Amino acid sequence: MDLFEYQGKQYFARFDIPVSPGGVADTVDEAVVAAEAAGYPVVVKAQVKVGGRGKAGGIKLADNADEVREYAGNILGMDIRGHVVNRLWVEHASDIAKEYYASFTLDRPNKVHLGMLSAEGGVEIEVVAEERPDAIARISIDPTVGLDLAAAKAWVAKANLDAEAREQTAELLVKLYRCYTEGDCDLAEVNPLILTTDGEVKALDAKVTLDENASYRHPEWEEYAATDTEDVREKMAKERGLNYIGLDGEVGIIANGAGLAMSTLDVVNQVGGSAANFLDIGGGANAEVMASALEVINSDPKVKSIFVNIFGGITRVDEVAKGVIGALERVNISAPIVLRLDGTNAVEGRALLAEHLSDRLIAEPTMLDAARKAVAMAKKN
Ligand code: GDP
Ligand code: MN
Repeated sequence: MDLFEYQGKQYFARFDIPVSPGGVADTVDEAVVAAEAAGYPVVVKAQVKVGGRGKAGGIKLADNADEVREYAGNILGMDIRGHVVNRLWVEHASDIAKEYYASFTLDRPNKVHLGMLSAEGGVEIEVVAEERPDAIARISIDPTVGLDLAAAKAWVAKANLDAEAREQTAELLVKLYRCYTEGDCDLAEVNPLILTTDGEVKALDAKVTLDENASYRHPEWEEYAATDTEDVREKMAKERGLNYIGLDGEVGIIANGAGLAMSTLDVVNQVGGSAANFLDIGGGANAEVMASALEVINSDPKVKSIFVNIFGGITRVDEVAKGVIGALERVNISAPIVLRLDGTNAVEGRALLAEHLSDRLIAEPTMLDAARKAVAMAKKN
């Protein structure tokens, strides 16, 4: 889950990482209140989960209430690369002497944490990485060892940061590493990390991605989930305890088990179709779960046919069949459904479904047949 900048900064602050004082605002009046509290000059910042807000006009410096009104009015409602601004962060403006870059992320193939630090921050790091790769000092951190102050100091020296910024930056990096590990982030990025004209080092921006696999030990993350702008279908699925990922195609897919769901995507592609989603209903494919899955897929207008691919193992196909029948009684499904039911109790399951079959509910003997049928139905619709 990605956080908004203001949430990222609040997260940083818990780990004692220096940030500027500020407040959130959803209206122009609230922006003025936040500005008065932070103290002028302030910076009015669009809160959207996309980078390059500065270039898009979503970040403005304001010296007084009139300017805050003008900029807040302009920025609220602005569309920044497909993200509409509904919230602002207004903080006391900093006098910038230097802009650096710092981040921690996972280096999955090497099973270590990757730290990146550069004296050339403020611009997109991808651009720096491409044009001047030497300007980024990388370190690999063994998660069982961690990052201590001595290692951070050596790293800061390697990155050629200005002498007066080194001590504070090293301390900040140790805190940022703690935030990243103890705070269960997949990414903690500060761009820019600044040295102010007063010689202070702090985080001027925050990009934080939380590792949702760790949400069980972070009840406090619920407030972030509440403001999360994820796909409505993904939200709906999560509420129903389903593993769902929205894609761009036209065949809705329901399968039991992530492996089978992935193979189903492949087979749909193989026969010339494309998947509208990935939905794994897991082991317990009862009527309740099946109805939920169909509801989620049904809410997607792009779906032109639904391919239910079940291979019964522990899951019994007759239970799945009851699930499908029960679900159809509860939910009015707009797309035709193609079923492939195999495995444990497949014969019983197919028998149960036999009298319910129609041109809207079709059973096919194999996965390939079912994929072909589902793709053909999608193209016809
Ligand atoms: P991004 O464009 O979405 O990455 O947003 P940032 O928060 O990184 O801000 C973009 C740029 O706005 C920064 O690189 C700064 O140059 C500028 N900026 C942001 N906050 C301040 C501030 O407090 N003072 C000054 N002078 N410039 C700021
Ligand atoms: Mn930035």
